Amino acid sequence: MVRRVSILGATGSVGQNTIDLIARAPGEYEVVALTGASNIAQLAEDARRLNAQVAVTADAARLEDLRAALAGSGVQAAAGQAALEEAASRPADWVMSAIVGAAGLKPGLCALEQGAVLALANKESLVCAGALILSTARRHDTHLLPVDSEHSAVFQGLVGEDMATVERIIITASGGAFRDWPLEALEHATLAEASSHPNWDMGQRITIDSASMFNKALELIETKEYFGVRPDQIETVIHPESLIHAIVGFVDGGLMAHVGPPDMRHAIGYALHYPERRDLPVARLDLPQIAQLTFREPDLRRYPALRLARAVMERGGLSGAVFNAAKERALDAFIAGHIGFLEMAEIVEEVLTRFDAETGRIDAEMTLDNVMQTDHLARERADQVMAERAG
Ligand code: NDP
Repeated sequence: MVRRVSILGATGSVGQNTIDLIARAPGEYEVVALTGASNIAQLAEDARRLNAQVAVTADAARLEDLRAALAGSGVQAAAGQAALEEAASRPADWVMSAIVGAAGLKPGLCALEQGAVLALANKESLVCAGALILSTARRHDTHLLPVDSEHSAVFQGLVGEDMATVERIIITASGGAFRDWPLEALEHATLAEASSHPNWDMGQRITIDSASMFNKALELIETKEYFGVRPDQIETVIHPESLIHAIVGFVDGGLMAHVGPPDMRHAIGYALHYPERRDLPVARLDLPQIAQLTFREPDLRRYPALRLARAVMERGGLSGAVFNAAKERALDAFIAGHIGFLEMAEIVEEVLTRFDAETGRIDAEMTLDNVMQTDHLARERADQVMAERAG
């Protein structure tokens, strides 16, 4: 049976890996929508190649470029936020949510509302609005599948298991670009240095978030939301080889580790073919050649984002939306060269503290409006904090 699929964030790193898998099985998929933002040439090329119904750029100013690039192809061109949501709402069986940042939340909800299975790479959705995403899926009789490699690993470790027997979930972390740097040097880490990952080839934002471990912080919160475990059941360990993606610990003391190559096509392929397993074009590990797998405790002075994630998990409510929004603004400022690497965590911490004390909004009901407003206000607060520090 031909499956209808859409890819939100098709021009990005996860989107391109998803397209790679889909393009290898022509005839199995009917591509409904592909979406991107700035990379019009890639979007148009893939939409033509996969014969998509519609290609959408989130950037309304690029509609004419997209139309020109798709001329004569029969693929519809559209642009802007409403078009993105319309595309995500088109009937499909499986939708990849791979837009980066909180911008992925609403399109993901649209996909769930039309009943699609949502393959979720966009961890920010769960961090900002976990309960809302999960309840929307339940209401529309569908479900999420994790795409983050760590969460896919946990998910695979839980097949056939009773959640009541899960004692702990251990999320591994590569430690990012600066895991072996002297602490004093971090203050002067440059954008280029933070943008290169030792093991994974990913988009720039998540790569910088790996160096600061804000990515891991988001993943801890995502773990709590997705698997419904308590914060004290979630652990992090530095595993520089990035071959064990996560470990589930059970009440009998057994640990179930998921081992695989650092290639996103494994987790994406698992979500694409679930509940089947299919042959995937990823490297096969040669264990004698790898010889050893190592682990170490994360140093919270090096990775303050992990401490902040704990605070967010304990606080609950809308604190995840505040955390993510402040992190996104601080990351924008780091990329723009306005703040230093270590300042990102300081700013996020300041926003979290002030937001809770000044707004009383953290405990507001988790509706889409409340999440979006909280996101907006937290971004304003982050800009304010940064302006105060600069002045
Ligand atoms: P990229 O930056 O490579 O790609 C992001 C995608 O989102 C692109 O298609 C981009 O379009 C689009 N986009 C950017 N801004 C907007 C916007 N405001 N509205 C709509 N679309 C937008 O990101 P990644 O692929 O690395 O990551 C995507 C998501 O997956 C993130 O949430 C990340 O945390 C998660 N993830 C990524 C992994 C990876 O290996 N990369 C691993 C696990 C999770 P364009 O490029 O055309 O501008």
